[in-house]
Amino acid sequence: MTEAVTSAAAPAPADFIRDIVAEDVAARRYAKIVTRFPPEPNGYLHIGHAKSICLNFGIARENHGRCNLRMDDTNPAKEDVEYVDAIIEDVQWLIAGWADHCLGFKPKGATPAAQVTDGRPDFYLGAAPGPDGAEPFFASDYFGPLYEFAVTLIGKGRAYVCDLSPKETEEYRGSPDKPGRDSPFRTRSVAENLDLFARMKAGEFPDGARSLRAKIDMASPNIWLRDPLLYRIRHTAHHHTGTQWCIYPLYDFAHCLSDYLEGITHSICTLEFVDHRALYDWLLESLGLPRALPHQYEFAKLNLGYTLVSKRKLLQLVQEKIVSGWDDPRMPTIAGFRRRGVPAAALRQFAYAIGVTKFDGLTDVALLEHTIREELNRTALRRLAVLKPVKLVLTNIPAGEVIACDATNNPQDENPTTRSVGLTREIYIEADDFAEVPPPKYFRLKPGGDVRLKYACIITCQEVVKDAAGRIVELHCTADLDSRAGGPNAARKVKGTIHWVSATQSIAAEVRLYDRLFNVPEPDADGAFLTHVNPHSLEIVTARIEPALAAAAPGQALQFERLGYFAVDAKAGTPGRLTFNRTISLKDTWTKGPAPK
Ligand code: ATP
Ligand code: MG
Repeated sequence: MTEAVTSAAAPAPADFIRDIVAEDVAARRYAKIVTRFPPEPNGYLHIGHAKSICLNFGIARENHGRCNLRMDDTNPAKEDVEYVDAIIEDVQWLIAGWADHCLGFKPKGATPAAQVTDGRPDFYLGAAPGPDGAEPFFASDYFGPLYEFAVTLIGKGRAYVCDLSPKETEEYRGSPDKPGRDSPFRTRSVAENLDLFARMKAGEFPDGARSLRAKIDMASPNIWLRDPLLYRIRHTAHHHTGTQWCIYPLYDFAHCLSDYLEGITHSICTLEFVDHRALYDWLLESLGLPRALPHQYEFAKLNLGYTLVSKRKLLQLVQEKIVSGWDDPRMPTIAGFRRRGVPAAALRQFAYAIGVTKFDGLTDVALLEHTIREELNRTALRRLAVLKPVKLVLTNIPAGEVIACDATNNPQDENPTTRSVGLTREIYIEADDFAEVPPPKYFRLKPGGDVRLKYACIITCQEVVKDAAGRIVELHCTADLDSRAGGPNAARKVKGTIHWVSATQSIAAEVRLYDRLFNVPEPDADGAFLTHVNPHSLEIVTARIEPALAAAAPGQALQFERLGYFAVDAKAGTPGRLTFNRTISLKDTWTKGPAPK
């Protein structure tokens, strides 16, 4: 399965949107398939957006097409440059090595006017944003041409300036079962509308005093066709256009025309826009545009168990400091997943595994976790680390002696390589791997019992050393060095194998153990997600790690043997000390029940 998302040659998934694209390709309806991913820069991208990115870039990639990254930034109030930068980084990370050759960026400084007049804009492919001269598309770049389109619509008698207040507009609109009423301003002359619209743009009127509306049908059963708002007055600076504009287009007007301006062929959005499709088509058709028109298709949003997929709610988690930021490794944001150590390929694989449908549902988070484990199992370097160390002395190994043991780096590799780990007189084992009073069928270490140290030898517990308070200080064991691989006793069998690190060669590291952020599958089903936060979603421990881990870098997949998958956190922790995030445990612990109180 992983191949399907990572290899260029592997077959693509099938779904109803891909079927439509395939028909359009067969009928040669477009010179090139062009999709877009159009986030509003009012928050970080989350796992739901990842689904949309994989769909849009996947289609572009499968059809030798292009997918434009477009900031849907027509609403000046909520948007921010921090979000723009984060979105670019997250999209590039998610598609790197997979669909980056399909990424449509515009040449830096390309003027919207040129984009309108040159007929078929075809922008740079695969160019990175930044100093080499390309940047993502911004819907706000089109404010000029959008204004011209609005003027054209007025000239055709298909839009008018309306003086109803926002509240009155709402009242006149009616309800799904009750037709609306015509605005008294609906019959204004084209000349008067043109004059008023120009004056709206010139800043003559305060916020809310007037709006531009499409003239469609106030009795339409589709409420979106009841003379929808196209422009409103907002004397607000915009993060991209500054104070140049005081009128801003609404989503429905800006979106279809942005799609048209960029030469988009398939405009894919989520199901709540089904009813907007008639307006999308009406606007494009009313303008009598010369080039092939884009079409809108809708699919079901991703809803994921134990997870919020709404920027607004995620923002609340950030603002109320439930998490440390948008990229907190517990956040379902792309940045959070990346920081936690989830590979981009796993998110892409997940997006492919859930498929694309027309029906809303709740996806089991176990599927995402499974996908992450599968990918990491394939790629992660195996390393030894002890999260909750207890000291163990191998009394028959002299102090200062280092016994080299071969440890496998990744048994999943075609030709696995090894490294050397040093067994010394003093080692650490996991506190959980020793039980003074073992429960039945306990195969780890117990007084008088045997266990194999992974990659090394069998040891026997001779003595438990305690302090005055009765706490275990050290375990004293003897090592059967002949039971090492290749030794005369190598065939000796014991029931348990545990991991360990040398006490003298290992280094200390901070390890952050994450669990789910919410303790119910649908955190916001009752509208009170803040009351369902899992109080045990983060535990920080000081671990001992084998020396090879000192070279670990952020983004590198690691398995701490018997414990789970981990990744270096570039951001958190104490200077001079490595910090690791647990990406995911080896087995799903959650199904055993909620975390202890
Ligand atoms: P939110 O409610 O989190 O703000 P949004 O839909 O308003 O989400 P946008 O920035 O407008 O966020 O979305 C960009 C694109 O991502 C849109 O095409 C949208 O359809 C898609 N998208 C957003 N959320 C999901 C989701 N949960 N599943 C699939 N696609 C999504
Ligand atoms: Mg939105």
